[in-house]
Amino acid sequence: WARLRRRLAGSNNALARALADLLSVDRLDEETWDDFETTLITSDLGVGPTTELTGALRRRFAVDGVADPAEARRILHEELLALVDPHLDRSLNLTPSADGLPAVVLVVGVNGTGKTTTVGKLARVLVAEGRSVLLGAADTFRAAATEQLATWGERVGVHTVRGPEAGDPASVAFDAVAQGAAEGVDVVIVDTAGRLHTKTGLMDELGKVKRVIEKKAAVSEVLLVLDATTGQNGMTQARIFSEVVDVTGIVLTKLDGSAKGGIVIQVQRELGVPVKLVGLGEGPDDLAPFDPEGFVAGILG
Ligand code: GDP
Repeated sequence: WARLRRRLAGSNNALARALADLLSVDRLDEETWDDFETTLITSDLGVGPTTELTGALRRRFAVDGVADPAEARRILHEELLALVDPHLDRSLNLTPSADGLPAVVLVVGVNGTGKTTTVGKLARVLVAEGRSVLLGAADTFRAAATEQLATWGERVGVHTVRGPEAGDPASVAFDAVAQGAAEGVDVVIVDTAGRLHTKTGLMDELGKVKRVIEKKAAVSEVLLVLDATTGQNGMTQARIFSEVVDVTGIVLTKLDGSAKGGIVIQVQRELGVPVKLVGLGEGPDDLAPFDPEGFVAGILG
């Protein structure tokens, strides 16, 4: 988080800029608030949270007659933190459905968002915590995807179950979970295909993968991977996926890049699902639990 803080503070993050601008003006007139609102919208915060934040700040700044920048900063910190919702349970549910069965984590999302990379990084985190992990390469549509996952597996020291090229993704997922159960593995992480040609196709495929896995063991987490730099496009993906499967947590990747920051709040609000993990780079150690305090501190610089 110290790293994210540095990166957000030094970046062109629109949310951070809007707040810094607000703190730097001498007089808070209508024009200032209008500009503030516009910048918040362009920071991917979404209309609802933008109106809420602006309203709360206007009220508090007027009522308390804030003149002291330190006090203004404290209020901003409080209101922003409330929007991020620090009380949400962001822990990963890795409870197995029965003794001897592995916990199953299904990782979904559009190609290119960082799904495979996230699976690799997550495996590394879990292994470091002392758990045994097995990967399932259920993205059978692209041979390269399976290769990439297996490479990550080797890198972090876990085995990858693969199927035949262009084979049935659900059957690879089932095999991975069955093998995990036979080996007494703690967690099986299943990487899925992220083709968004048609919603029905995706629905059929992901629904089937989940149903087939659940013949063997319950899926305890469905993590939706979103690229934080894609803004509203990412929101559209989030809506579609959440209609297709019961998403239990969001992984926002590339928060180290040109992400505008507000997406964290918008996606949680709209889906009612917490951001559980964030990707902060391409390396194996660049996955962190989402920390609301660290995020807000990073935004406020
Ligand atoms: P997939 O198609 O969804 O499986 O995506 P990949 O895992 O192949 O990732 C796509 C690209 O994004 C790769 O070049 C990754 O190295 C990069 N990537 C993934 N996560 C992050 C992240 O958190 N930060 C940055 N900067 N790049 C990332």
